[in-house]
Amino acid sequence: MSTDTIFGKIARKEIPVQILFEDDQCLAFPDINPQAPIHILVIPKQALTQIEHASPEDEAILGHLLYVATLVARQQGLSEGYRLVVNNGSQGGQTVDHLHVHVLGGRAMGWPPG
Ligand code: AMP
Repeated sequence: MSTDTIFGKIARKEIPVQILFEDDQCLAFPDINPQAPIHILVIPKQALTQIEHASPEDEAILGHLLYVATLVARQQGLSEGYRLVVNNGSQGGQTVDHLHVHVLGGRAMGWPPG
């Protein structure tokens, strides 16, 4: 069903996390190594390793993950703004091969990103 990664285990509830949002398609929980005062990950429950591997059938889940990211940001009170990040592949900085959207907030973000 889901990937054989740490996030796959989290999606299957084999590893407990603080669940901040959940529905039938996705799960949100705090990043273990936060890069901002608020740093939350939104992951699909289905097996999707990285955004580059998305197919036309995945369009709905991709949109859903972004929408849920906005719900999580609102839930966290990030009314001044926030950043959503999807790292793809090694040069994109992806370290876990299970698609995830980073929700970063609680401080002003720099640009360009590192
Ligand atoms: P990325 O580098 O885009 O693949 O992001 C992976 C993120 O997962 C990093 O920010 C890690 O800190 C985070 N991470 C890794 N393991 C866990 C875990 N068990 N629980 C929460 N976050 C994790």
